[in-house]
Amino acid sequence: MKIPNQSLRYHFWQNAVQEKDWKDALDFLIASLRDALVFDNLAIFISEKSGETSEIAYARAVGREKKAEADANWGEEIANQAIKREEIVLKKPKEPNPNGKRVKNAYLIGLPLKASGKILGAMSLIRFGGPKYAENHIEIAALAAIIIAYIFEKRALQETIAELESVQRQMRLQDDFVSTISHELRTPLGFIKGYSTTLLRDDTDWDEETRREFLTIIDEETDHLTELIENILESARLESQTIEMNFQPLRLDALIRDVITRVKARYTNLEIVFNSNSEKIIQGDSTRLAQIFENLFSNAVKYAPASKIAIAVDNINSAFVQVTFADSGAGIPEAHLLFIFDRFYRVPDHPGKAGTGLGLFICKRIIEAHRGKIWAESEDKKGTCFIIQLPAQ
Ligand code: ATP
Ligand code: MG
Repeated sequence: MKIPNQSLRYHFWQNAVQEKDWKDALDFLIASLRDALVFDNLAIFISEKSGETSEIAYARAVGREKKAEADANWGEEIANQAIKREEIVLKKPKEPNPNGKRVKNAYLIGLPLKASGKILGAMSLIRFGGPKYAENHIEIAALAAIIIAYIFEKRALQETIAELESVQRQMRLQDDFVSTISHELRTPLGFIKGYSTTLLRDDTDWDEETRREFLTIIDEETDHLTELIENILESARLESQTIEMNFQPLRLDALIRDVITRVKARYTNLEIVFNSNSEKIIQGDSTRLAQIFENLFSNAVKYAPASKIAIAVDNINSAFVQVTFADSGAGIPEAHLLFIFDRFYRVPDHPGKAGTGLGLFICKRIIEAHRGKIWAESEDKKGTCFIIQLPAQ
């Protein structure tokens, strides 16, 4: 079917403007181009930056010689000529041989792609076995080249916008991060500096008990600082998604049993009830997932001391495995419940409990990297329950 030029123009413009995805726009456009003019293969070469050599950005084999010339090598030379000369280049076979193989009788056309006064690249068309391109066909191809240049310019703009947005996000994160971090680092450093300066004073003789007390504080605050720095680095890596997850098929019930064995060795009096009704396999990073449960145990020991911990693993439907992790401690007031997964957030009602407010943030990021969900439920004074859902394999 031949489409009249006017409706073809409409087709071209409409698709170029409406399609969000540049590849979809090109697919449409090239399909309508093929209705208006016969060609076997088409290739588009774009230089990422002006002056750079152009790379193949798009290739379509539509004609009968699909296999013979499916790769776009055929189009590169004529595309480069069109770019260099900034004009349409036509090429006929040296000696047309009507009885020879069609592939040998190639008619080529190279069209520069120009937008906003700049050459972005070129488009090449090939037609096997002739006839040569007629004047009106060249005109249609030139029209398509204008729209295609427009599509690629739009693509470049979209990429630039996305890059800028990501830089902007990073800068905002950096700002928040620096201000919170400097506060968090100063507190333990202040203790360490204060107590060591006091101990070093020449004018006072500290008795053994006081010396020990001060040194213990310095020792604890140093541990705190080390842990803080480790958590900060970990959370920064998770935030910038530079941590590589090592996904492997695993069973959550087995993983949790291992963590429980380790935790029991550390906290010999801890009472843990474990129940599993799921043997589903999930795709997970076992080290990172274990880290989550270790964090939850460390929180339970800190914030719900002497409470029993009940853990259950269940299938909630065919697609998800759910873990509930419940203590019967003091619980978390509702006003704080939504924020405990934020970076550095700590509920203010736990005086004297050391912590940086990074544990649950790290848990959440790890779960999200597994395409899962984590949240907490708590009835005041009736304990806290953490719920984790992970997709089954
Ligand atoms: P970190 O884990 O970085 O050492 P943290 O324990 O304070 O410090 P999170 O693990 O992120 O930080 O926990 C955030 C806050 O949520 C805690 O400060 C605490 O107030 C509250 N919380 C966490 N788990 C419980 C729990 N089981 N019971 C009561 N409150 C809890
Ligand atoms: Mg914690």
